[in-house]
Amino acid sequence: MRRAFIPFQPLLKIATTSINASGVHIPASVSATPCFSSKSGARMSTSTPSEKTEALYQKDGSLHKHTTTISSVTRFSQLPAETQSLFKAPPDAELFVLTMPQTIFHAQGGGQPSDTGSITKTGLDASSVIFQVHQVRKPAPDAPILHLGIFPSNAESSDSQTPLSFSQNHTIVQEIDQEKRFLHSRLHTAGHVIGAAINILAKTASSSAASGIPADVADGKASHYPGAAFVEFTGLIPGTAKAHIQELVDKLVQEDLAVRVDFWTEAEANAKCISGADGIAGDENGVRVVEIGDRGSYPCGGTHVKTLRELGRVVIRGVKRQKGVSKVSYEVADA
Ligand SMILES: [Zn+2]
Repeated sequence: MRRAFIPFQPLLKIATTSINASGVHIPASVSATPCFSSKSGARMSTSTPSEKTEALYQKDGSLHKHTTTISSVTRFSQLPAETQSLFKAPPDAELFVLTMPQTIFHAQGGGQPSDTGSITKTGLDASSVIFQVHQVRKPAPDAPILHLGIFPSNAESSDSQTPLSFSQNHTIVQEIDQEKRFLHSRLHTAGHVIGAAINILAKTASSSAASGIPADVADGKASHYPGAAFVEFTGLIPGTAKAHIQELVDKLVQEDLAVRVDFWTEAEANAKCISGADGIAGDENGVRVVEIGDRGSYPCGGTHVKTLRELGRVVIRGVKRQKGVSKVSYEVADA
């Protein structure tokens, strides 16, 4: 279910330009209106953080550190109830939501959890984290990406009203938890590999007969959460197919197939992608598609490994059937 995005009132809003980790200047994709107030206390801005955030993780999944600026800071408690409900029940802490013109933090979606990490001011060392990012959400395709978190008590701050002591055009550094991202990327990619394997088994007459996977099996929803990863299919996959799926998944991983991410036209995506049953819609960039070697392509907004060896071992946990839907659960382990 898609919730409507309700704009909210940011505490402060700063004009932005951004520079990536390698120091290359990137033109700002938004023109923010400077209305920052000084250390004496932030005034409530009358503008809303409506500018779309550039999701850098969709263009370069290897970015783990990135320099940009702050667009808005909002107290979590001041968000509309519907926007608050996008987040998990937060711990008893003073929470804020930050938006930035660009982000390397993956927003929860497509079955992949959000990234966590930190935001530091430039020029400060790693111990000077000014904001800890706990959850990331994208309320709607054109809405800004919301970074929920806390300002640690040891953060540099001279203003109890506004935990930030950002000044106008002050740059900040985003840094994601790389270990967590890598696990999420492995689990996500493994879901595609299992999907591709089941499609290959289903579409080949001899292996369809041997495995019992019906030819008309179709991709359904998926979850790539650690400890709770599964892919679903419409059509009944028998429990005895588990060994066949495992065998083909192992073979694909051994082949160390390359995982490519590209932007396709809607026509091409609808013609070639495996999960195109409902019609695939793109945005101004087209449709973001991930290809597992030449064995399967999927429309996808998540992060992935570069080649399948990085998955380690993909372990098929079980195959269960309910109301015409088959659920294949799995996990990843070290090779
Ligand atoms: Zn994907």
